[in-house]
Amino acid sequence: MKNKQISLASRPTGMPDAATFQFDTVELPALKSGDILVEPTYFSVDPYMRGRMNAGKSYIPPFDVGQPLSGGAVAKVIESQADGFTPGDVVTGSLPWATQSVVSADGLKKIDTNLAPASYYLGILGMPGLTAYFGLLDIGKPKAGETVVVSGAAGAVGILVGQIAKIQGCRVVGIAGSDDKVDMLTESFGFDAVVNYKTSPNLKKSIAEACPDGVDVYFDNVGGEVSDAVIANINFHARIPLCGQIAFYNMTETPVGPRIQPMLLTRSVLMQGFIVGNYSKRFNEGIQQLATWIQEGKLHYTETTLNGFDTLPEALLGLFSGQNTGKMIVEV
Ligand code: NDP
Repeated sequence: MKNKQISLASRPTGMPDAATFQFDTVELPALKSGDILVEPTYFSVDPYMRGRMNAGKSYIPPFDVGQPLSGGAVAKVIESQADGFTPGDVVTGSLPWATQSVVSADGLKKIDTNLAPASYYLGILGMPGLTAYFGLLDIGKPKAGETVVVSGAAGAVGILVGQIAKIQGCRVVGIAGSDDKVDMLTESFGFDAVVNYKTSPNLKKSIAEACPDGVDVYFDNVGGEVSDAVIANINFHARIPLCGQIAFYNMTETPVGPRIQPMLLTRSVLMQGFIVGNYSKRFNEGIQQLATWIQEGKLHYTETTLNGFDTLPEALLGLFSGQNTGKMIVEV
């Protein structure tokens, strides 16, 4: 039996393009004991995948040139040689970018698609949801009445951060890259104010106007000049969960910005980087709480879905030009 797969053709310099990806058709191996044959129905594309295209040490190994890319997916079990898995089960976990794969069942988790739509396990009930939940609550520690600013506000993580901060009783200000996103966040997701960082003539001033009492928590998804402008408005004893730096992922050199240390020092600000995997022992707690808020109607969700396996590269690159609102998903 043959599958179609998408491999890393070469390591990109700067923004990846069509030459970064290679489409192949390969013969599937026979199943060994402990293996399952899976057919993905949904793939998640996430900004961290760009980092995995580079060589070098990080918190997750780089992709190998000539080998399939991989990422979060939901898949149907077609055949099984693994205890506890039977054909027809639906599983989630990290899978190769392939139309079918023979993989070890270790690390894959069965999901119940009667409880929530399958794609939710890649977003609100998956890695992005847990990132928002733990980053905001554990590091940001928002208190009722405080002002929480989140960048990348209309994306998978940001849209949840803003809503969770509202549940905590905070004033929530988002930063996003289009007027449509600004309208969506204020009209449908309860944000108190949203700044369009692409059209604001003076971002520091726009943030000051949106945050008359200053910024108590800044959930940083993007870095760069957006974060410089937020930190210029930071309050005494503020907390900054450092979640992502997407503004830099395609840069070949990191630009030097303002030196923020004096500001952090003199205002007693806590800035802490984190990787969601740090919280793996508490994932069940996070999923339970997120699911409860969905059931209570307190947490809303949106996705941008591209259709067809071949759209995976386009979907991934679309994250870097803001093509998505909410979670970017590929339905195979
Ligand atoms: P998103 O769904 O937010 O997609 C990325 C968004 O980033 C785009 O839609 C775009 O929105 C915005 N963006 C792209 N380029 C830039 C830029 N140069 N400057 C400012 N904004 C930009 O992705 P996720 O929600 O999945 O991830 C958000 C961030 O969180 C990423 O940096 C990611 O790496 C990080 N992350 C970290 C985790 C961790 O464990 N620490 C786990 C998960 C994600 P717009 O139109 O507004 O520009």
